[in-house]
Amino acid sequence: MKYTVAVRALCEFTAKQGDLDLRFTPSPTAQEGIAGHQLVASRRGEGYESEISLSGEHQHLLVRGRADGYDPQLNRLEEVKTFRGRLERQPDNHRHLHWAQLMVYGWLLCQARGLSEVELALVYFDIGSQDETVLRQHCSATALQQHFETQCERFLDWADQELAHRAARDWALTALPFPHAAFRTGQRALAEAVYKANSTGRCLMVQAPTGIGKTIGTVFPLLKACPAQKLDKVFFLTAKTSGRGVAMKALDLVKHSAPALPLRVIELVAKEKACEHPDKACHGASCPLAQGFYDRLPQARTAAAAAGTLDKATLRTVALAHQVCPYYLGQEMVKWSDAVVGDYNHYFDLNAMLHGLAVGQPWRVSVLVDEAHNLVERARKMYTAELDQASLGAARRSAPPPLKKALDRLHKSWNATHKAQSEDYQVHAEVPEAFMFSLQQATHAITEHLTEHPTLVDEALQGFYFEALHFTRLSESFGEHSLFDITKAGKQSTLCLRNVVPASFLKPRFANAHSVTLFSATLRPQQFYGDLLGLPDNTAWIDVDSPFSHEQLSVQVSRHISTRYQHRQASLPRVVEVMARQYEQQPGNYLAFFSSFDYLDEVARLWAARMPQVTTWKQSRRMSEGDQAQFLARFTEDGQGMGFAVLGGSFAEGIDLAGQRLIGAFIATLGLPQVNVVNEQIRMRMADLFGDGYAYTYLYPGLQKVVQAAGRVIRTQTDRGVVHLMDDRFGRPEVRGLLPSWWRLG
Ligand code: SF4
Repeated sequence: MKYTVAVRALCEFTAKQGDLDLRFTPSPTAQEGIAGHQLVASRRGEGYESEISLSGEHQHLLVRGRADGYDPQLNRLEEVKTFRGRLERQPDNHRHLHWAQLMVYGWLLCQARGLSEVELALVYFDIGSQDETVLRQHCSATALQQHFETQCERFLDWADQELAHRAARDWALTALPFPHAAFRTGQRALAEAVYKANSTGRCLMVQAPTGIGKTIGTVFPLLKACPAQKLDKVFFLTAKTSGRGVAMKALDLVKHSAPALPLRVIELVAKEKACEHPDKACHGASCPLAQGFYDRLPQARTAAAAAGTLDKATLRTVALAHQVCPYYLGQEMVKWSDAVVGDYNHYFDLNAMLHGLAVGQPWRVSVLVDEAHNLVERARKMYTAELDQASLGAARRSAPPPLKKALDRLHKSWNATHKAQSEDYQVHAEVPEAFMFSLQQATHAITEHLTEHPTLVDEALQGFYFEALHFTRLSESFGEHSLFDITKAGKQSTLCLRNVVPASFLKPRFANAHSVTLFSATLRPQQFYGDLLGLPDNTAWIDVDSPFSHEQLSVQVSRHISTRYQHRQASLPRVVEVMARQYEQQPGNYLAFFSSFDYLDEVARLWAARMPQVTTWKQSRRMSEGDQAQFLARFTEDGQGMGFAVLGGSFAEGIDLAGQRLIGAFIATLGLPQVNVVNEQIRMRMADLFGDGYAYTYLYPGLQKVVQAAGRVIRTQTDRGVVHLMDDRFGRPEVRGLLPSWWRLG
């Protein structure tokens, strides 16, 4: 059996040595890199060949890649590297790696074209000055072949072990039993849909109620699909840290049910949570775990691969035993893991690590997206950039003298943009050219400065710099998917490239995966999520039947209450009356949801006066993780009381209060986003793009929150409970149509 490896991956494995060095080195963006390569190629003579696909074998190793350029007249093979700053600052081990890659290409070319020798040229292209520095050496085909074979030999042991691992993994997955005695109601249909979507290489949207075991119901069939679909990896992406824990547990359960399954699992942890030396910088001169990192990596990698499951604690133990950084060991181990559990942004973000790896390697990847209704909002944030004039002010105050001029010019241009706008809030068709020019000049100057002073620590300057880079990058792809707006506050303003429809950014992420399954208890209407997320047209859809019956949940609509802002005061006594009557009729644990903290406080005050004997606890604006745990701990099996919370907040989804821990919920809002100038602009854009601007901006997102919150009440097939929907609009057909079909409204 052959093992295929990319030239770059082979050399990174065999030829990386020395320290980890992540001092400030602003690498060119992908676009700058492509432009740099094109410019170099355009400077070459006639007959110059670019992007030459090459491959070669050594024993059962197949090595593939694309060499940057070859000049047949000069018999010169070139490898182009774009960079910024001073070349002499480049660490030696980077140069060493570049030569190793070029020499591998050298042999592959000699072999393909029957050459006895070739000139190798390492071309360093400076993005700033557009100058080239060329390093050359003549090599005989024999020497290059020897080098190639040495690299392959160094990798072969690992490749053999990977092949054996893969064969054992796939064999065990083929025989893998479902880890529970039986499927729950709906769970089999879910599992079959995931398996089928992977068999046909399509994306899948799943709406499935809570309580059927969605995590194991998606993880299990996907793992089962791995052998037949030749999947290299599965990514499980979550919106919250708690979701990662659930996914890790499900994978653990699978492994326990099949002790012979050698599944390698890794949990991605944020750098600040994995770092052992937060007071140090990530380079050998500062951090002991970066010093000699690549020299100790091979042993650490072997130990980490043998560990099987790399949760945060295990990864740390392995890393420290080999004196390497746990965070960067984790990044390395993603390449050698079968299942990766991470956050949405690891795959969907602009610079997403998992997506970058998946595109750069010959991997076949399938993705699971947990609680996928969150992806719309999360993706909007990923593709939104905001620039605040106050942060430019802070950067100007602390900036070193060489940067003053560029920042002052930007300040002037910003003021002119500010003055040109008459309203406090306005949407513009485009970002003013003069402003963008000053912004680019400023970021260019900061880049040059930080490159020259890689150890400079200036939080204000760097904070503004990263915001400006993000803004510049998103401005390049500005289009109808986003708004450009300016919000004035006195003499200062905030500029925002506000993403409304992330579809065009996410489309390539779906296209690059073999299959993506998005699942949630609330993904209706399907069209809404399909439009906003940019799912492929052939995306499959399944709405899994609820295992719960309408007899378990009494849903009451209070048609005599309006929670519209102008009716809020009048609603207060009525809301309290409904809650009090329900409580008196059936004392127990309840959650009451409101549209805002102000509304919550007003109702809570009246409630306390009306029902002083009832224990009450309230969500507050900024709760720590500990405070949140305390809030939830008050819902005990034999307890009674009223918890007050806001809709869309931490207690409105993702919490599990089964049995008597929660017997009812009151929802005094439709969850509609506030009508304000920004949302109204979004509504108009949605109307232009999809027709029903109101539903896409207000109704669908609002009702999704309502259904999530109400979903806290019935968690198991033995639960019984009540939901009070307190607003007359819940009686309207277009609203009722968005509620779960198994509910019967009273
Ligand atoms: S331990 Fe911290 S400072 Fe050291 S290399 Fe890792 S992330 Fe960087």
